[in-house]
Amino acid sequence: MTDQARSTIDVLKTAKIIVIKIGSALVRGDELDQVNQDWLDALAQDVKALTDQGKKIIIVSSGGIALGRKALGISAKTAPNKIPLEKKQAASAVGQFHVFNGYHNAFKKLDIITAQVLLTMSDTEDRRMNLNARETLYTLLERNIIPVINENDTVSTVEIRFGDNDRLSVRVAQMVMADAVVLLSTIDGLYTSDPQKDPQAEHIPVIEHISDDHIKMGGDALAGLSTGGMKSKITAAISATKSGIHLVITDGRPIHAFRDLCSEPQKPSSLFISQYCDLTAREKWLGAHMRPKGIITIDDGALEALHKGKSLLPIGVQKVEGDFHRGDPIEIRNIKGQKVAMGISAYGKEDAVRIKGKHSREIIEILGFTGRDVLVHRNDMVLEL
Ligand code: GLU
Repeated sequence: MTDQARSTIDVLKTAKIIVIKIGSALVRGDELDQVNQDWLDALAQDVKALTDQGKKIIIVSSGGIALGRKALGISAKTAPNKIPLEKKQAASAVGQFHVFNGYHNAFKKLDIITAQVLLTMSDTEDRRMNLNARETLYTLLERNIIPVINENDTVSTVEIRFGDNDRLSVRVAQMVMADAVVLLSTIDGLYTSDPQKDPQAEHIPVIEHISDDHIKMGGDALAGLSTGGMKSKITAAISATKSGIHLVITDGRPIHAFRDLCSEPQKPSSLFISQYCDLTAREKWLGAHMRPKGIITIDDGALEALHKGKSLLPIGVQKVEGDFHRGDPIEIRNIKGQKVAMGISAYGKEDAVRIKGKHSREIIEILGFTGRDVLVHRNDMVLEL
């Protein structure tokens, strides 16, 4: 995206598809097991104002675990990372009903239909499932139905969870090629340091390029209902901006916070500006992979070749790890162990191990069949920026 939008209001004015992520603390009311219906009603009105202009809106909402706490006997004081996984899974099964019901009731008052979509990380990492989910979302949007998405926490396990909906909302935005993600949170954006501890902390309204300093400013997760904290929001912002999507953080707690964000210049927010991105949808999906099936470490010569736009040949491979088949996504690392690219492997793990460090002309002799000359073809690879 090359637009010159430099303020949150401009971004939201020009965006055609917007993903709004709503944190648990906003969805839950004063009671442990009730939604904040007044707040949801106001949000539905704000969303309608945008859909009336022809914009497409997708909601990613947390709150399943928070609203199931009471039924599972989990105290309001227990931090999310201290709740055992099986209790979280069970709590979400109770609470997700209340979450979706809250949105359903809010939009129904405006004659708008909502659809519940529950996704796991593996659904979005698998190319075929990713495309299925995308088609479902497009079909709903075409009919002006509002998708309300959450992670399918009842089946997600520790190793393969998004865990926080900041990253899930960006993954959804990448899936549907959205223009912007809005994180409605309990903080109005990024500060130079933690504003709760440092009175000198300064709010940053626009971030053109995310630097190491910004990452440090992110700090660690907050206590309370929030799972992600600022750190996960910055991770989400890096992923979004790299794939050409703007990301906005604002304090969503006041009633009609989203309406104000769209129209009041004085409403504080942090806007992370999207970077130029000419990747195809498939390349975006590949580049954003979080759980590659394998890791291939390459030497400096091979790295130089990749930067010149060449494919990865077996001769440049030093190490092969993981358990992958032909066609699986793998991470490519330099000899320092840093990620340099994501790619689709032309060989399964066993064959990759046998041909590593060898000339391509030797492949037939080693494997006994003529496979591809390359381990990862240029067209099946996305380099890190
Ligand atoms: N999927 C979790 C839930 O519904 C929320 C994760 C988050 O806090 O972002 O409770």
